[in-house]
Amino acid sequence: MDTDHAEGVLLGLACGDALGRPVEFKSAAEIEAEHGTLREMVGHGTWRQPAGTVTDDTAQARCLARSVADRSEFDPADIADRFVEWYDTEPFDIGIMTRRSLQKLKQGVTWETAGRDVWEASAEGSNAGNGSVMRCPPLAVAYPDDPSMLGQVSRQSSEITHADPRCTYGCAVVNLTIAAVMRGDAEPLRTALNYVEPEAPEELLTALEPIARGDERASLPTSGYVIHTLQTALYDGLHTGDVETAIVRSVNRGGDTDTIGAVTGAIAGARFGATALPDRWLAAINAETELRTLAAQLMKL
Ligand SMILES: [Mg+2]
Repeated sequence: MDTDHAEGVLLGLACGDALGRPVEFKSAAEIEAEHGTLREMVGHGTWRQPAGTVTDDTAQARCLARSVADRSEFDPADIADRFVEWYDTEPFDIGIMTRRSLQKLKQGVTWETAGRDVWEASAEGSNAGNGSVMRCPPLAVAYPDDPSMLGQVSRQSSEITHADPRCTYGCAVVNLTIAAVMRGDAEPLRTALNYVEPEAPEELLTALEPIARGDERASLPTSGYVIHTLQTALYDGLHTGDVETAIVRSVNRGGDTDTIGAVTGAIAGARFGATALPDRWLAAINAETELRTLAAQLMKL
């Protein structure tokens, strides 16, 4: 991995998050009516923030990256502490399972238990959101050459707030895909799916099979359900010819635009590098310098 592609993961994630933020929850038709094709960082919108503002996706990815960079190892208890510190800043955007898990952590429940308790108390349909896959890509920058370790830390990073196997293995798939991209693997998602296949939930494997093939008829839903987010982000991230088009395409599909944009951006950023991201986007996001520094630190682990 070189610096440009490591930075591409973190900056691609932030750019997708920031482009999608003002149109989160809008349909493709509503975005089209208001913006045509949204390809510029605009202000206000869903969260009434200035242009280029990133959301919880980038904020939590930054907590995770800072922890691993500062401690030179993966320490889920420390990552959980940093999520709580961020939660105490009263972020404008936070997912339901994340909020509940962080509240438990604040009450003194350990990270191994908090996310699991919340998961067990959540009904099917509201127990497998995309709140952990959106923040996990920094781990692929830290552990690109050790799939066993990368799979394990990816799953544990999810368990802090999202203990459902679709979420934990979803994180493993995203990061093993990014790592395979970094190695120049011609079929990175295929490689990732083969790696997790003995243990990962069948529903996840089945949903991502057509995406690995690049099947143009593949279903690409845009909800916050982790499997929907992964289908669409992996498709746009892997099967689009440049990083700007990948992010623009995923955000303009509507739905959970910031998170699908963020995951798409991390994957396409790994393919094309930070230098391929539009300068006008990098100038607008409020996290560029720190994310470049973190990418360089994670790479050196
Ligand atoms: Mg968000």
